Amino acid sequence: MNHAQLAEIYQEALSLRWSPVAVRLMKAGEEIPEGMVEPTLPLRHCQSIIVARRGYCLYMPPRKHACPDGSGILGLTEMSPKLRSGDLYLLFKKLPDIECARKMIASRPEFEPGTHQATLVAPLERANFEPDVVIFTVWPEQAMWLCCAKTYASGERQVFRTSGYNSTCADLLVQVMKSGEMNITFGCYGARASTEIDDSELYVSVPYEQLPVLAESLPKLAAKSIPEERRKIYLPPIMDNISRPGQDDDGKVELLIDEERCNGCSLCEAFCPASVFEMMEHNGAMKAVVIKAENCSACYTCVGQCPQRAIQLRHAKI
Ligand code: SF4
Ligand code: SF4
Repeated sequence: MNHAQLAEIYQEALSLRWSPVAVRLMKAGEEIPEGMVEPTLPLRHCQSIIVARRGYCLYMPPRKHACPDGSGILGLTEMSPKLRSGDLYLLFKKLPDIECARKMIASRPEFEPGTHQATLVAPLERANFEPDVVIFTVWPEQAMWLCCAKTYASGERQVFRTSGYNSTCADLLVQVMKSGEMNITFGCYGARASTEIDDSELYVSVPYEQLPVLAESLPKLAAKSIPEERRKIYLPPIMDNISRPGQDDDGKVELLIDEERCNGCSLCEAFCPASVFEMMEHNGAMKAVVIKAENCSACYTCVGQCPQRAIQLRHAKI
C-alpha cells in the first residue's frame, strides 16, 4: 500500500479534516528527497506540522527551527543553558519551582544533540520518504477510533505517556520513536500559542510501521461501529417523563415490539445483553417476544440494532 492509499483509508474511515502528517528525523548523510521546500523564515516544529497538514512538504534544517526547546529535544541542536536548567519555565510561570522544572526536564524524552540533521514534514499522501511517525490532528472521537483500531488489531489497551509540556516534539516524536507505540498529546503552551490548532483538536502520533496495521482495522470498524456511534443509535429519543429525585419511580421500562414490522431477524435477541427477548413462532412466522422485561436496563441496544425500527421503550407506569 502506498502513502496516498494509506492516507485515503484513514481519511475515509475517520472523516479527517486535515491530512495526516508524515515526519522523519534525518540523520547525517541522508539525501533530501525531491520536492521538499525549505521555508524562507524559521518555523517552530509545531508550526511545521500545521503547515504540512495543509498540504506542504518541508525540509527543516536546524537553522529553520525557530523553537530552541523543540530543536534541542529532537537532537538537532544543543539546548540553550537557560532552557536546560529549567529557569525559563519559572520566568514564564509555567512551573512552581526549580525542583519541579528539573524533574519535568529529566523525565522528558529527548534525543542527544547531533543525533539528527533536519526534519522532513509532509502530508502523508505526498510524502516521498519513509517517515518515523505519522501525526493525526483529531477530535477526541477520532482519537478514540484510532485507539480502537489498535486494540482491534492487537487486543491491547493503550498506555500513553504525555504532558502539557513539549507536546509535538517530545510526546509526538521522541516518545513514539523510542517506545515504538502510538501516543497522544493535547498540545502545549508553545504549540497552542503559536499555531492555529483548534481548542477542540488534539494530536495522535502513530509509528510508521503500525500504520498499515491500523489501516486494516479501521475499514472494519467503519463498516458498522463508527457510523452507528455517529448516528447516536442508543440515544433515547425522548425524555418523556422527566422525574424528580425521590419520585416514586423504579426506573423500569416497557418494551413494545411492532409485530407487523418485526421480520424475525433475531438481532434483538442476539444483541440484548440482558436476554430480554426470545424468538417465537406466531402465525407461521418467527417474531421477537419480550420474555424478561424486568431484566431490561434501558441501554437502547435493541432499538439501535433493529433494522426494522420495530422496538420502542417507554417508562413503565407503576
Ligand atoms: S431486531 Fe427487530 S426485526 Fe429483528 S427480530 Fe428483533 S424486533 Fe424483529
Ligand atoms: S434496552 Fe438493552 S437491556 Fe433492554 S431489551 Fe433492549 S437491549 Fe435488552
